Amino acid sequence: MSASQNLLVSQLSQNRKKISTPCYVYSLQSVQNNYRDLKVQLGTGLIYSLKANSCLDLLVRCGHVFDDGVEIASIGELNLLPKSESPRYINNPSADKAFIRAAIASKCTLVVDNISQLKLIAEFVGKRPISPLIIRLNPRVLDRFDDAAKTVRRDHFGFDWEDALQALSLCQLHGLAVAGFHAFRGSYGFEKFAFATAKSALQITREFENTLKYPLSLVNLGGGFDPSWRNRAFDFSQYRNLISEFPEHIKVVHESGRAIMGSAGYFVTEVRYVKSIDGQQYGICDGGMAQNFLLAKTESTFKKFQQPVILRNGEPVDSTEEGVSSLLVGTSCNKEDVIGVAKGVGVQPGDLAIFGDCGAYNATYTVAPFLNLPSSKSYLVE
Ligand SMILES: *Cc1c(COP(=O)(O)O)cnc(C)c1O
Repeated sequence: MSASQNLLVSQLSQNRKKISTPCYVYSLQSVQNNYRDLKVQLGTGLIYSLKANSCLDLLVRCGHVFDDGVEIASIGELNLLPKSESPRYINNPSADKAFIRAAIASKCTLVVDNISQLKLIAEFVGKRPISPLIIRLNPRVLDRFDDAAKTVRRDHFGFDWEDALQALSLCQLHGLAVAGFHAFRGSYGFEKFAFATAKSALQITREFENTLKYPLSLVNLGGGFDPSWRNRAFDFSQYRNLISEFPEHIKVVHESGRAIMGSAGYFVTEVRYVKSIDGQQYGICDGGMAQNFLLAKTESTFKKFQQPVILRNGEPVDSTEEGVSSLLVGTSCNKEDVIGVAKGVGVQPGDLAIFGDCGAYNATYTVAPFLNLPSSKSYLVE
């Protein structure tokens, strides 16, 4: 078990009566380490993508860690975020006038997705100060400047090249300053495309600066980091060399949600009942897909269930029961509501199942309103 897992286990054992299950537990130390380690490896700024985890208590305690800012995708997230000095970026193709007005009023930086959105922003010129804009580029624009890597799947985000040039001239027409551009190739895409993305971005920087006739200040190369990036063989040092080719006056940033939050969060549920059907053991838990939809793996073609740590009377249970395995099921009356497997353990009522890697998207990308099931509580550990 990792240090943060050990800490969690000891806190759960000591405070069992005060903690209500199902719940999420977030490790402040892990969030901080994940953010700082990735930032050091990249040698650039790192923006936290708030949609991965918007637990308010966690943000209040960790907000100061994200010194390069936070990326916000909805007005709900904007209203939630505690006030802070670090930059806030608004990024959503569907952002409407109300959201844009709120964003400008609270001095956020807008990442512009399309021409109509840009025209809406232009309506605020002269009424409110507008922070220099970021132009969001579709990943296909990157392909245009580099033959090496091709975008596999199309997506609907950002401008194509022709519209990006039109956006720049509209900005000039309306006196809107441009800070730079942003490109995101999707989750898990970093390693495969990192070098190609940066090389294209270097050329796009020159094109933008030639067109605008003034220097840019920010280039966001996107992200797509795997939460297990530390165990992979990516050459960060060579990557940092490439990044150093960006002109001095440009702050280069990346952004991440799951690599910062994923391993910092745990989902904890208690086994209520145990039964067996034709030899298959089941642990019926007080939480399941309604509080943690992703554990049920309904979106994977091949289900490989996660194995939680089982805690009994405050002590981790070793997987020593040969040939035994318990499927852990939730509360939703849905036959897909299987959230994990305890291999080598016959679970017992009162056991706690602790699932790791539940810090990103698990709490939010879920279906709690179904059956009016209770939503999960959240707790923090140092
Ligand atoms: C969701 C999102 C991210 C975060 O993706 P992760 O896979 O969680 O790192 C980054 N950038 C943009 C534009 C996003 O929409």
